[in-house]
Amino acid sequence: TSQPTMSTQPSPTSHLLKVALGERSYPILIAPDALKQVAKYVQSNRVVIVTNSTVAPLYLARVTTSLETVGKKVEQIILPDGEAHKNMESLTFIFDALLKNKCDRRTTLLALGGGVIGDITGFAAASYMRGIPFVQIPTTLLSQVDSSVGGKTGINHPLGKNMIGAFYQPQAVIADTKSLATLPARELSAGLAEVIKYGAIIDTEFFTWLEQNCQKLRAHDEAALAYAIGRSCEIKAEVVRLDERESGLRAILNFGHTFAHAIESALGYGAWLHGEAVGCGMVMAADLSCRLGYISVSDKERIRALVAAAGLPVQAPDLGLATWLGWMQVDKKNEGGQIKFVLLKVMGRAVLESVPASVLEATLLACCT
Ligand code: NAD
Ligand code: MG
Repeated sequence: TSQPTMSTQPSPTSHLLKVALGERSYPILIAPDALKQVAKYVQSNRVVIVTNSTVAPLYLARVTTSLETVGKKVEQIILPDGEAHKNMESLTFIFDALLKNKCDRRTTLLALGGGVIGDITGFAAASYMRGIPFVQIPTTLLSQVDSSVGGKTGINHPLGKNMIGAFYQPQAVIADTKSLATLPARELSAGLAEVIKYGAIIDTEFFTWLEQNCQKLRAHDEAALAYAIGRSCEIKAEVVRLDERESGLRAILNFGHTFAHAIESALGYGAWLHGEAVGCGMVMAADLSCRLGYISVSDKERIRALVAAAGLPVQAPDLGLATWLGWMQVDKKNEGGQIKFVLLKVMGRAVLESVPASVLEATLLACCT
């Protein structure tokens, strides 16, 4: 377990972290008005900003101005909003624009938006001319604490989510805490699910801090947000440093996700937000861990209470045993047909294990409405 190191930071609302991956290392800036500092993190003179139709009217002008003020040439690509557009058509649209504008390898792609924009833009940057620089400017809580850090990029295929992609690290991640002001409350809660996850699997002190500060986070308290985002990024960066390409440890970041994927798949994507399904999935994984004699009943209840306090569902939909098992059997973590779960041995320590069918059934029975 790594200890929080952010107490040495200059201000309670700003943090500057580093993802340590040798020559692929990069900074993460978390600050109010970080959008105004973007130019410091872009090396090339030419920049193409990729964003969507929701984020463009809110923040595109601010980012463009901060780059043009220092003399950079800026172009803009605005995609339609939504997970449905995280596809080959959007990717082709980006490539067409880059080629028509004769963008060369000294062009930086800048992803301005949530995880959808970050994933598409990162993959475009990984593959255009075999790789050009890119910078992440995540504007949702989920993308600030999760998707912008770690280098997973990609798009969906009609036959599967995130099936086409690459590991490709950004040159910097710039998270503006003020940009979350316009985020719908439901999306903020969804991001909190991944924040709670880091506390549960790695850092019990952080978990306790979240119990005490959850309402501040939901009320957009700047120092609280900066701390939660910073600590989340630190934890993710450390896990990624130890296991960049998910050959082992990185799988613990999937705490709650086995149940979540079944909920999302069975209800149809979009019915529940990913973070909502993860919140509920963590309650289920905690129940399972408790039944196996790992965490205590009171720890299980702490997880349930924090998920509820974050504004997330704690009661799973009643999909029926066969549907649950069917969807959980198609998870990437499985080996040889065995469903693998991220379980809590104790609070703050996660393991990947398969479980006896009878115990899993008891959890499904207990957690579904
Ligand atoms: P999203 O990108 O769809 O954003 C959610 C909504 O918020 C969208 O409508 C968006 O336009 C809007 N929005 C964004 N910023 C806003 C702002 N500041 N104010 C108002 N509205 C704003 O969803 P997300 O939750 O950010 O990301 C989900 C995506 O991330 C999924 O495609 C998922 O697969 C991917 N993901 C990737 C990784 C990874 O490691 N690469 C990890 C987790 C999730
Ligand atoms: Mg997730």
